[in-house]
Order: sequence, then C-alpha cells, then structure tokens
Amino acid sequence: MRFINAKFIKSASARDGFILDDFPQIAVVGRSNVGKSSLINMLTNNKKMAKTSATPGRTRLVNYFSINNTFYLVDLPGYGFNKASKTTAGGWDRLLNDYFTENERLKLVLLLIDSRISATALDIQMLDYLAELEIPVAIVLTKIDKISRSELNLTKQKIMKELRFNLDRIICVSASKKIGTEEIATLIENYI
Ligand code: GDP
Repeated sequence: MRFINAKFIKSASARDGFILDDFPQIAVVGRSNVGKSSLINMLTNNKKMAKTSATPGRTRLVNYFSINNTFYLVDLPGYGFNKASKTTAGGWDRLLNDYFTENERLKLVLLLIDSRISATALDIQMLDYLAELEIPVAIVLTKIDKISRSELNLTKQKIMKELRFNLDRIICVSASKKIGTEEIATLIENYI
C-alpha cells in the first residue's frame, strides 16, 4: 500500500469533535518532539501535512488525516510537556484518555520512541495503559539517522528487555532519510 491520497480532515479539541464514522483509525502517539509530525509528513509524502512544531505541547488537538479513502491516520497530542493540561485518574491528559477509551474504530497505535533516548518512564506507562485497554501497539523508533547501527541495536535490545516485545513489532524510521515508510504501510495494512 502507498499513501497516495492523503487529506487533512479536521482537528478535535474535545471528545465531541471526534470522528465517529466507520472507517478504521490508526493513531500516532509519543512524547513531544519525538518526530511525530515529521513521520506523518514522510508517510503522506507532504512536508506540510502535519506541522512540525518548535514549541512542544502548545496545542492539544486530535488531528485526522484520511488516507486513500480507506482509513484515518490520527495524530494525537504529544505527552510529556503538558504540565498545564488536566490529567485523568489514569494519569493521561483527558483528551488522550477520551480518545483511547471505548474506541472501536481504533485498530492500532504507533507509539513513537526517540532512538537516541530509548523508552522513558512515560513511554512505558503509556504502553502499560494501552495494554490494559487491549489496544494493539507497534513501537516506532524515530530519528535513526542520528545514531549508529550498533547503538540502534542496543536501544532495540534494551526496549525488548524492558517490555518483552517482539523485535518484529519494533519499526525503525528516519524522516530525514525517508526510511521506514513501506514497513509502516505494510503493518497498517494488516490492521485495517
Ligand atoms: P513532534 O513534536 O513529535 O511532532 O516532532 P517533530 O516532527 O516536530 O520533530 C521534532 C524535531 O526533530 C524537529 O526539529 C525535526 O526536524 C526533528 N526530526 C524529526 N524526525 C527526524 C529524523 O528522522 N531525523 C532527524 N535527524 N531529525 C528529525
């Protein structure tokens, strides 16, 4: 599958703005600055599709992109820099919590982790939370052009050890070198 027809549809700042039609949704989530916007731009082959922001965590929006008139790629607000936003009992921002709970359209979450930093406590908390909700997750290591192959292998091993995840569920990407698009597209195809 190629992301031939990608269109921004809408942003939602609260639950009542969520898209509730029957198309499957694939969500992208991660710490602010992890490279989420850059990944969406790479996948859609459009540098302006998702805005790459210099001010992390400023806007709290769920952004919906329609891909090939087949599914939605859903850009979720970054976590980690949202000191001001209200959190729920689960520890997450209300908007994230509302999006994840009781969402039958959500087929897969791509959880982005910076390959230079590896999984943070917040990432692990998010993985546990998604597992509790029984939402399928794939880990995507970002910015792999910034580290060596051996460092990347160490990061993968470290994450696997901490999370007991299979290697084939860890996808490595670089938006600046355009690495990983096909692998992500193939993965998504298996879930929609
Ligand atoms: P977001 O806050 O998660 O949406 O992150 P952005 O996509 O805005 O990226 C944050 C910063 O990391 C920006 O300065 C990007 O240029 C940079 N960045 C994102 N992806 C890559 C990548 O694959 N390689 C490199 N070298 N830099 C990247």
